[in-house]
Amino acid sequence: MVPSEIRALFSVVSRPEIVSLAGGAPYVSALPLDVIGDMLGELVAGKGAEVLQYGPAQGDVHLRERICEVMALEGVQASADDVVVTVGAQQALDLVTKIFVDPGDVVLAEAPSYVGALGTFAAYQADVVHVPLDEAGLVPAALRETLERLGKEGRRVKFLYTVPTFQNPAGVTLTTARRAQILEICAAHDVLVIEDNPYGLLGFDHEPMRALRADDADRVIYLGSFSKTIASGLRVGWVLAPHAVRAKLVLAAESAILCPSNFSQLAVREYLATQPWQEQIKDFRELYRERRDTMLEALDQLMPDGCTWTRPAGGFFVWLTLPEGLDSKAMAPRAIAERVAYVPGTGFYADGGGHRQMRLSYCFPEPHRIREGVRRLAGVIEQELRLRDTFGGIRPSDTDGVHTPGPDVV
Ligand code: PMP
Repeated sequence: MVPSEIRALFSVVSRPEIVSLAGGAPYVSALPLDVIGDMLGELVAGKGAEVLQYGPAQGDVHLRERICEVMALEGVQASADDVVVTVGAQQALDLVTKIFVDPGDVVLAEAPSYVGALGTFAAYQADVVHVPLDEAGLVPAALRETLERLGKEGRRVKFLYTVPTFQNPAGVTLTTARRAQILEICAAHDVLVIEDNPYGLLGFDHEPMRALRADDADRVIYLGSFSKTIASGLRVGWVLAPHAVRAKLVLAAESAILCPSNFSQLAVREYLATQPWQEQIKDFRELYRERRDTMLEALDQLMPDGCTWTRPAGGFFVWLTLPEGLDSKAMAPRAIAERVAYVPGTGFYADGGGHRQMRLSYCFPEPHRIREGVRRLAGVIEQELRLRDTFGGIRPSDTDGVHTPGPDVV
């Protein structure tokens, strides 16, 4: 496990003068905090003996039933018995990796991939092999080629890790046609799929996409989270897994934490039972849509020629590619000096890629700050372009590695 090289930079991004387009924190201030406060007070006063007690390792059964209702919005039919409640989807990632991966095993992951997953895979000494994605998500032909190549080399692939919907960090979504192809290819090579889907209900344009798990209950392990749809501070996520896998997950969870927090689980259960949670998610979607629009508009107006970026239809992130010869990591301290922060692309690759890319998030700053952040960033990129044209290119740093991101970056 290696600490993030950019952690030092991030220690300054919470300063008010810096516009941070780096963090992935949901905008929890949009919640009805007073109503939730009352709800929590009543929960402890009325059911304190249960709320403040240990609970079952698999998680509260009524919450697991509710979780099945949430997943039904994405076409998933599941039994509460196959759900394990975890401390955020992050613990779900950890448990799944722990039970499947031995040092040196291959894990396939999108290029780029969620930094927190790469950190987990590194901690269990997995050998991450990246498979490219484009605007339509993971590229099926590239997946097939990679699996064939690894097969010929006699390498054992434990699973494919994918964030198919509103991907972190790329902001892209796997199309319906590709979903079927990805499942077909994984079935042909007998590879498990880890579908990590914390943003699935945060789409701006249409009904939720059908989850991969909805079309293959035996091959797909689904990871979910209330971090983005309710509150990240509650730390409630889950795994839905085939029965035999579920049994191992419960054992692994028990040895890690005994049981997930009863307080948090019952808070979520109560929230789902008594609050208009679907309306709240709609409010979040509107809020994030406005911020997405602001960011895309500012990028369209302000970014110098040669920059390209994705146009997310949901979730939190835009993935920007710099013009040839520029290096997002080398540029980061200069951006901080100009009072704007982003996450350099290198953090999202296990193989040293991502030097020309960066992740920009629009989930947390107010729209006027997003616009100002993009304006400052455009100025920094223009400066870099002038440097490039004067000195003929900037040498990429040679100190990359997978790192643990820290909660301010995820
Ligand atoms: N997976 C992805 C793709 C994420 O973006 C995140 C958080 N940013 C997580 C998992 C972890 O989320 P949590 O532990 O808060 O549920």
